[in-house]
Amino acid sequence: MTVASLAGQWGLIMAEQRWIPETLFDEFGFRMTFAVERVLYEMQTEHQHLVLFEHKLFGKMLMLDGATQVTTRDEFIYHEMMTHVPIFAHGRAREVLIVGGGDCGIAEEVLKHTSVARLTQVEIDASVVEFSKEHFPEFTGPVLSDQRFDLIIDDGMNYVAGTDRRFDVIIVDSTDPQGPGKVLFTYDFYAACKRCMAPGGVMVTQNGVPFLQPDELISSVGHFRKLFADGGCYVAAIPTYVGGHMAMGWAADDAQLRHVGVETLAARYAAAGRFPTKYWTPEVHKAAFALPRFIAEAVEKA
Ligand code: SAM
Repeated sequence: MTVASLAGQWGLIMAEQRWIPETLFDEFGFRMTFAVERVLYEMQTEHQHLVLFEHKLFGKMLMLDGATQVTTRDEFIYHEMMTHVPIFAHGRAREVLIVGGGDCGIAEEVLKHTSVARLTQVEIDASVVEFSKEHFPEFTGPVLSDQRFDLIIDDGMNYVAGTDRRFDVIIVDSTDPQGPGKVLFTYDFYAACKRCMAPGGVMVTQNGVPFLQPDELISSVGHFRKLFADGGCYVAAIPTYVGGHMAMGWAADDAQLRHVGVETLAARYAAAGRFPTKYWTPEVHKAAFALPRFIAEAVEKA
């Protein structure tokens, strides 16, 4: 009997360290890889490959089709900025629509606004919500027990093209423009969102990392400008959305909404009960629209 087989029997051999790569930027010859503490869940759903694993720095990490979606360590940045910026800029949002958002991290932030009367989430992949019930209870717990929350399993394109409802704020918390998420970056999708937006409404979109994905942002803003009075983006830095600033697309017919002042934002935050935030502040909100020149120039090209 060899030493190795003996050690194997006694479970002494350390299991090979598994590393999970983010393959989103393979075309650029660039990968971020994560040492896996433990795989918590992995499956090929009807729409995409889903893996959830534990990482010693970022906590629970969810990847869909090789792209990082959410981590428990830095989720607050993206979720707060995709939610509180449009809702506080609008100031009177009652009807909110989320397209995508399967993990319910954005929904949890929206429902902190007691002024919101109804939140509708349209998610294409029921498996993502089902698995989030077990693995992201910090999001799904408060959301699924809130009477104001409606979950619809459907392709976001179908829903916005057909609904007769009208929304004050539309938040597109989608995957990247690949697989099921591709349609959510098209002119037709944005035109359908415009159709179901209430007067004075605003739409924000997950729009990639401009340093690595400039075309995605330029394309979306180009569509926004054909459909809305005001189209552009704001930014935030999210550690696991590698590549520097993350861009969040902005589309509204009231061009004043992006210029709401810090005092007004602070007053609206106070009226909302100053619920705790870890990233969003009235000052950070305002500053997020001050774009670094290379992003501003990319947006100008749109
Ligand atoms: N924050 C993440 C990011 O920036 O990459 C996105 C998180 S969320 C998990 C993305 C969700 O969009 C997924 O649950 C996915 O199933 C959903 N999705 C993708 N395409 C969709 C579509 N056409 N209609 C509705 N939901 C869609």
